[in-house]
Formats: sequence, C-alpha cells, structure tokens
Amino acid sequence: MGKRQFKAESKRLLDLMINSIYTNKEIFLRELISNASDAIDKVYYRALTDENISFNPGNYFIKVTPDKEKRTLTVSDSGIGMTKEELEDNLGVIARSGSLAFKKETELTDGYDIIGQFGVGFYSAFMVADTVTVISKALGSEEVFKWESKGPEGYTIDACEKESVGTDIIIKIKENSEEENYDQFLDEYRLRSLIKKYSDFIRYPIKMDFKSSRLKVGSEDEYEDYVEERTINSMVPIWRKNKNELTPEDYENFYVEKRFGFDKPIKYIHISVAGAVSYNAILFIPEKTPFDYYTREYEKGLELYSNGVLIMNKCPELLPDYFSFVKGTIDSEDLSLNISREMLQHDRQLKIIAKNLKTKIKNELQSLMSNEREKYETFYNSFGKQLKYGVYENFGSDKDVLQDLLLFYSSTEEKPVTLDEYISRMPEEQKFIYYAAGETNERIAKMPQTELIADKGYEILYFTDDVDEFAIKMLMNYKDKEFKSVSGGDLGIDEEKEEAVEDKAENQDLFTYMKDLLKDKVKDVRASKRLKSHPVCLSNEGEISIEMEKILNTMPMDQDIKADKVLEINTKHQIFESLKDAYENNKEKLSLYTSLLYNQALLIEGLPVEDPVEFTNNMCELMK
Ligand code: ADP
Repeated sequence: MGKRQFKAESKRLLDLMINSIYTNKEIFLRELISNASDAIDKVYYRALTDENISFNPGNYFIKVTPDKEKRTLTVSDSGIGMTKEELEDNLGVIARSGSLAFKKETELTDGYDIIGQFGVGFYSAFMVADTVTVISKALGSEEVFKWESKGPEGYTIDACEKESVGTDIIIKIKENSEEENYDQFLDEYRLRSLIKKYSDFIRYPIKMDFKSSRLKVGSEDEYEDYVEERTINSMVPIWRKNKNELTPEDYENFYVEKRFGFDKPIKYIHISVAGAVSYNAILFIPEKTPFDYYTREYEKGLELYSNGVLIMNKCPELLPDYFSFVKGTIDSEDLSLNISREMLQHDRQLKIIAKNLKTKIKNELQSLMSNEREKYETFYNSFGKQLKYGVYENFGSDKDVLQDLLLFYSSTEEKPVTLDEYISRMPEEQKFIYYAAGETNERIAKMPQTELIADKGYEILYFTDDVDEFAIKMLMNYKDKEFKSVSGGDLGIDEEKEEAVEDKAENQDLFTYMKDLLKDKVKDVRASKRLKSHPVCLSNEGEISIEMEKILNTMPMDQDIKADKVLEINTKHQIFESLKDAYENNKEKLSLYTSLLYNQALLIEGLPVEDPVEFTNNMCELMK
C-alpha cells in the first residue's frame, strides 16, 4: 500500500516533536500507557451496552517490553484496538488538531508549550523514536493492520498478523546523541521507575518481564535463567489512600495521568465522607481555561466510580454549570453498578453527593480567596466569567453560593475587590453600590458619567465582561445595598435632586428644542448633575443600559434593542453658554452644535456615529 501524507497540522507538530528541545522526553511512556489504559476502558464501555461482550477485568493488561538488540520498546495492550479506518483517522491526524489551529506559528516553536497545551499523546513517541509501528486488531474484527511512520514524510498502512485483540506500539529507539541518552528507554529498571512515577494509579496491571536466575530444582549449585513477569504499578486508586500518605506531586501526577488538564491545578480537594452516603473524591480546580471551555464542545462532569468500578467518564449531574471547570474523580459504594444515564438523574444518593460537593467547592474557593488571594485571582481570571453566568442563568436562585465569590475591579483600590470589601468601605451616607460598564478599565476610568460619583470619593466597580451587568441585574442587591449604574437615570444622591429641579425650569425651552432636533434618537435632553468637567454624556432610563444594548445587538437574535438614551449637558461648562446664545440668535448654529454634541456623546460611549461624513463636515463647518 502506498505512502500517505499526514494532514498539514499533524506534519508541523511531528516536525516539532522530532526536533523537540523538550527536555522531559520520558513522558512519552506515560502517554502511551494512558492510551493503552483508555483502550481497555473502551472495551469496558462497549460491554455495558453490548451483551455479546463480557468484561472480566482480570483479562486486561498493559505490557512494556524493551529489546536492547533490536533497540525497540513495545507497549502492548489488550484493549479495543483500531480498524484500518481508525488507524488512519486517529494517527494520521492530530486528535486535537482543531485546537492547534488556535496557536500561531510563532507560538509553536517551543515544544514544551505544545505538550503543555494540548498533550499530543501518541506523537510524543517521536521524541525518542526513529520509527513508530502500530499493529492493531480491533474488537469484533478478524483483520489486522500495521501502521508505520518514520516521521513527517508520511506513513504506511498494510495488512498484518496478530493473534489477540489489542494494540502493539513498537518504537525504534533513537541512537544516543551528545545531548540525550536514549539507551535509558531500553533499560528495565529505568522503565520500571518511570512507570512507578507516572502511571502507578493506572487501574490495569502494567507488566514487565524481568530476567532472573534461580537454583535448579534438585540441584545444589546449578542455576538456571528464567523470566518472571511482574506487575509494576500498585493499582490502588489514589482516592482510597490516606491523605497523609500522599504528596502534592501525587495529586498533580494523578491530574496529568487522568488528562484532566495540561496545566498545574491551582488546588486539589480530597474528600472522604462516611455516613448516610459514603464516598471518596478528589477534585481539582484547574489553573488555565481549557481552550474549548466557553464553547458548546466543552463537557462538564466528574469521573464516577462505584466501589472501584468505573461507571462514567464524565457524570454531569455531579456539578452545577457554574462549577463546570472542576475536574475530578469520585467513588461511592452506595451507587448501583448498572445504573443507567436516565436513572442517574433521579438517583437520590447522587443528588445528595452533588449537593455536598457544591458546598464543599464553594467553601474551598472561599478559603482560597481569604488565604491565598493571588491564587484566587488567577483562578478568577480563568473562570470568574462562568461564576457570573451562574448568577445570571439561575435567575439569582444560587446567589447565596455565588455572590461572595465574585470580584470586580475597583476604581479606588485599583485592583479586583469582593462585594463584601466594597460594602465595608462605604461611607455612612452612601446608599448604593455604584458600577460603570465599558470595554476596558482604562476606558471606564475616563467615562464622563463617573465624574460626580468619583468626586464624592465613592468607589466604583468596573464591569468589563459582557455578562457583568446582566448578572448584577439578577442579583439586584448585596447585603441590602442596591446596585446602581453611574449611567442610570437617578444616581440616588440627594443634592443632585434639588439642583436638578432648579435647572429644569430655567432651561427647559432650550432642551426641548434640542430634543426635537434629535427626534427619536434620544428620549430626553437634560441638564447633567453627574458631569463636572466634561461637556456632554449619554445616560439611560429604564432597565436596558447602553452597554447592554451593545451586547444584546451583537447576539444572533433578530431584534433591535435600544436603551432609552438621555443626552446630558453640563450647564456649568462653557459650551452651555454657546448653546444658549445660539438658541437666542442663530437656530442653524444650534442645530449644528446639537448634532456635534450628540455624536461626541456616542463616540465617548464607544458607539458608532450614525453618519461619519456628516459628522466630519460639521467639524469643518466649525473651523470656518
Ligand atoms: P488522545 O489520546 O489525546 O486522543 P493521541 O494522539 O494520544 O490523542 O491518540 C489519538 C487516538 O488514537 C486516541 O484518541 C485513540 O482513539 C487512538 N489510540 C491511540 N493509542 C491507542 C491504543 N493503544 N489503542 C487504541 N486506540 C489508540
């Protein structure tokens, strides 16, 4: 059969693997063993739904065999195997090639980054191998195929022979080079220590042959060589072990081995509960946002075992959506083994566990916030948005769980703060929690609408995520303090009201005239009480803010949502004198000024001016 080409992405990655400067080449073994373990899991899953297949755990194993003469290392498994098509599909392209497209060429030059970000699995074999051969017989198939590749030039697939179902990965180990000792990957004792280090908790036995000699039976001085097959890994799941026996490295290795992520978890939580419902769980809070986290492809869930037997890879019922970033494994004796997906949703035990976990996760996050603020902020940068979606999506029903976990950037502290911290700093006369929404902190800081509140020395929370304002509308208040937007109609400051009444009568005719010029673009034109030095700004009346209008209109819904905008004029600004003068003497000029001011206010809001050509012509008109 002819040579086949790798898909472009895979070829690039392979190139990088082969020429990798990644020093930690030994992890290739962990990757191959994890794949083998996954392949055995797949037989187990198949057996759950196919009554022709029985799964007897005793029959499944992984075997690692070095051959110093041939310079080969073979990793065999009795797992599900691959058909010809699967060999082609799984090994001819990178499983996660979609994710690789996210990365720019320049970012791909560092081998570490690739492994860190995407865990390229199978391809890591090319860090230590000249040739990789995969011989596989798929479950339920009589045919056997051999996939072989020497690197990026391509690969071949041919018919082959193999007795039992499963896969042999045979890698031809590179010759030693000046920088790297490759012989170590053919040494039994070195391999054994690598298996212990990375794959000790793999549930299936990882076997190796060790040559030994023993006294011949019946003889007193004659020895014979024999081969002894030993299981290297302890197979005792980490969650059954005593916390005191485990080191942070053990948890981190478990996280990597389970492929929960390729980052280093920010926190691990080991839970052992004995009571009405007993279970052991190890949960992780990842550090980095998975590349697909905020997409539909991302699946939440915990790995679920019943008394040591795997039931489900990702049981979504165990986690609320807002904690969907949590990874981990849970094992309970109290769950029925042959529980189906549908039954799980109604399982009482499972519901109790889910409720416990929710509280536990919340408490752990809260203690992280109190005790290791920097780490919490790292976490929040990755997953804070999800917590805010949580506030929004549940119509505020889980706000008690979530509101104390929120952080917002503070205008006065110049760093993220909690709502509780905000409240604790509020002067006695301040009645509301003030916020301003915009694209970035820098832009918000310059918003004219913030002037009065900032001038009074009040703290303003900056909302830069799309979801922020929506979430806060659901929350409504925090510890009896209402939230108020600095761009909203009423700022809730007493002196503001008195002055406003006074101004209204005096300039009402001018404002009404301007409002008529702007037609239905604005709901009203008013004297501003929130402006100090800026001439003009927009505010809004009603529930929909200008920021919300922007966000809602980027969504794929066919509706034109508009905030009720109010054009606010600073009557203490010089510009106001010009307006008054134009109103008395030159209505054409007033029309020009009104249009310019309105468009300026749009620009300040980050909204597009409606007619840029007209706007620039008007500017020129001024210069004449
Ligand atoms: P990942 O395991 O992260 O999906 P890999 O590149 O390591 O990515 O492997 C690609 C795919 O090849 C796997 O998803 C699996 O379908 C298949 N595969 C790899 N090794 C084996 C094996 N030993 N037995 C069966 N299938 C395998």
